[in-house]
Amino acid sequence: MEIIAIYTEKNSDSNYDQLIPLCKYLYSELDSFSFAYDFVVPIGNASQTGSYIDAKQATQILDEYYIFSKEHSLVSKKTFNLKPSHYNIYENMKAQTPLKTSYNYPMISGCHIGWTSICILHNGDVLPCRRLPVVLGNLKHDSFEDIFLGSELLRKFRRFFTYQEKCGTCEYGIACRGCPAISYARTDDCFSSFELCTHSSLTEYKPDIQIPEIDCSNEEEMEYFKSSMKSFVALNHYKIFSLFPEIANQAKKIISTTKSQGSYIQTTDEFNKLTFDEAYCLGNLFAARR
Ligand code: SF4
Repeated sequence: MEIIAIYTEKNSDSNYDQLIPLCKYLYSELDSFSFAYDFVVPIGNASQTGSYIDAKQATQILDEYYIFSKEHSLVSKKTFNLKPSHYNIYENMKAQTPLKTSYNYPMISGCHIGWTSICILHNGDVLPCRRLPVVLGNLKHDSFEDIFLGSELLRKFRRFFTYQEKCGTCEYGIACRGCPAISYARTDDCFSSFELCTHSSLTEYKPDIQIPEIDCSNEEEMEYFKSSMKSFVALNHYKIFSLFPEIANQAKKIISTTKSQGSYIQTTDEFNKLTFDEAYCLGNLFAARR
């Protein structure tokens, strides 16, 4: 049996230094331990909290957490985890391991806004993310496909180089992209530089792929989306299939094959025959189990 302790607090600049002591306390007190932490998104009541941590303070949290987890994860079965997707980037930088992929994809992991996540409210309103209060359309009047493929905002998210300053030109952009919801809440601009980024030395991103113009047809957008999903699934399937055999079975139901699921997805053109719904479901399946 596993007990997961989740503790949520405002990580404002008045209490951010309590987070790692709390982590250490829970670690010492609990037999089973899994620690998860995420940045607060200052929307709703949280917008009243006033001051938020900056990149220096965020880096301090990650530095302390990184050292503590590395010291203890080898001698314990307890789980160390952090939610912000750019923590993976931080770990890569610390370990000085380059991203294990070429840059020929618009997205391989990181924030899934515009790709495999979306938010539908009880009244039919569709938002890009549960943390980003911008209404894209309403399912009482618009089809999901039209909203997802036709929304200019979602199209911009799928062309991440439109992000200003850091993320748009960052070598880790295809695996990170910060948190557009935090950027929006703090600056009114989803594509502004992510203020909590811990990556200081950037090299320029140069996509080798053909990325359609923003005002293309929905059909062209769908082809772009499907080819991106194909690379996303292909790059992630090995760990997913080995960790979650049931995912392999579900993928197998979506794509019937006599070959091994992994190499099949990676090498075949069958993926291009998937409908929009199937490609979207498959991407979600992988994103949810990352
Ligand atoms: S610049 Fe953006 S994409 Fe690059 S590491 Fe920072 S938050 Fe992530």
